[in-house]
Amino acid sequence: MKYCRFASTDGPQFGLIETVAGVQQITQTMTGGVLPDFSKAKKISLQPLSSAKLLYPVEPSKIVCVGRNYSEHAKELGNEIPKEPLIFLKPPSSLISPGEKIVRPRRFSQRVEFEGELTVVIGKRCRNLEPNDDVHPYIFGYTAANDVTARDLQKKDPQWTRAKGFDTFCPVGPIVTDEIDPWKGVRVESRVNGEVKQSESTLAFIFPVDIVLRFISQVMTLLPGDLVLTGTPAGVGPLVAGDEVTISIEGIGAMSNPVVDGD
Ligand code: MG
Repeated sequence: MKYCRFASTDGPQFGLIETVAGVQQITQTMTGGVLPDFSKAKKISLQPLSSAKLLYPVEPSKIVCVGRNYSEHAKELGNEIPKEPLIFLKPPSSLISPGEKIVRPRRFSQRVEFEGELTVVIGKRCRNLEPNDDVHPYIFGYTAANDVTARDLQKKDPQWTRAKGFDTFCPVGPIVTDEIDPWKGVRVESRVNGEVKQSESTLAFIFPVDIVLRFISQVMTLLPGDLVLTGTPAGVGPLVAGDEVTISIEGIGAMSNPVVDGD
């Protein structure tokens, strides 16, 4: 199953995506709810996915992120390989949709960087998972996110709330799919102005998705629609006004956002 959330004259809608005649099309739509249930959907005349104004695909109660989950990335920032998952939060107010502007907060930061990340969409309330519990029933699907980071503030502040939390610092999309398997390897790539900056398989995770979800669920209850960003590969770097940053993940597609300067 693949779905998107898109803007329409009736407000945001969920759309089921199917390939018809070799083209990705929205074939059914529904409104309401945190996550779509296409058994209650209505069939529509086909609309090509490429013509839809895509929105971030879910409105989460929280966004949980894993830091330093690829060893080459931990090393490039001079950090040790963590012995257990390192987690932090981004506020839902940082979410933006594919195509929306990432705004650099110039008064506070002179160094804003991209971080492309495979992202889990939680499908079911999840609390206190034990080591033998299967995590698959709790996963609705996967999408892509850019964990935009004010690197200078991350180095300066003991807590990362500012560095990770500015408005526009969490582009998510373009779609959600349950047809990929991070345990078998999914390629995560980031490009700035078309040039590849990050390219790594999720096989390089230090902590795979099952370990991450169990770890988080021991701390906080994960709710349907919550997002879990799984960490970024090596190759992070700065963004300046005028750049276009694209996160692409095999089976999910590509999400591009322009970068502008704010106050
Ligand atoms: Mg990150």
